Amino acid sequence: MIELTDVSKWYGSFQVLDGCSTRVGKGDVMVICGPSGSGKSTLIKTVNGLEPFQRGEIIVDGTSVGAPGTDLALLRARIGMVFQNFELFPHLSVRANLALAQVKVLKRSRDEANERGLRYLDRVGLLAQQDKYPHQLSGGQQQRVAIARALAMDPVAMLFDEPTSALDPEMIGEVLDVMVGLAQDGMTMMVVTHEMGFARRVASRVLFMDAGRILDDCAKEEFFGSPRSGRAGEFLARIL
Ligand code: ATP
Ligand code: MG
Repeated sequence: MIELTDVSKWYGSFQVLDGCSTRVGKGDVMVICGPSGSGKSTLIKTVNGLEPFQRGEIIVDGTSVGAPGTDLALLRARIGMVFQNFELFPHLSVRANLALAQVKVLKRSRDEANERGLRYLDRVGLLAQQDKYPHQLSGGQQQRVAIARALAMDPVAMLFDEPTSALDPEMIGEVLDVMVGLAQDGMTMMVVTHEMGFARRVASRVLFMDAGRILDDCAKEEFFGSPRSGRAGEFLARIL
């Protein structure tokens, strides 16, 4: 489904990704962790074409991300991305936030877009909030709307970049619950997070990055099962 082969990226002379290779199969949930500045955000942004890369290859659902002819707008429409800061349109109601990209990018009618948007809003438990504006919602609710908005685009995969790290502790659970549900429904996901409880519950693989490199890429059982040595061990000892 998602395949990275020897991906390298530089900002000027600074190498931010160094020969990253991994594979995310259909329905897999890959959790990416690692210290600040290790390249986690950069890695997942290369997957949907938000960040260019200079070497290697990324294939998403049969499409080569870096190839000259690739329609990046279409690719992005097919890969849902949820960031740390909810990024809803502040001047649009929840319902309009859900419909906008469906109408603009997928050319759905307003009625169809609203109908689908509300279906996913219901799924994240927020149907009653459809007429509100983002500032009238809690952070956890805004993040659930952001997830519903991405789902309404019928994505082939979902990318999450620390979706709970800007939330108050009491709201983290409600967002993780939605993500656990998605994972259990078979959504292909790449999730940058330090929520190791989430990783233990639903990850199929855990990838550990340091200084632009993938140092560990293993099954969850293996990652948590045996004591990790080196950088991953130090990292886990600090966050667990
Ligand atoms: P965090 O856990 O803090 O979110 P991260 O693992 O997501 O960190 P990235 O944001 O991918 O790390 O950044 C990796 C490295 O690339 C960092 O050293 C960062 O300073 C550098 N970097 C990121 N964006 C740019 C940019 N636009 N220009 C130059 N360097 C950048
Ligand atoms: Mg980051």
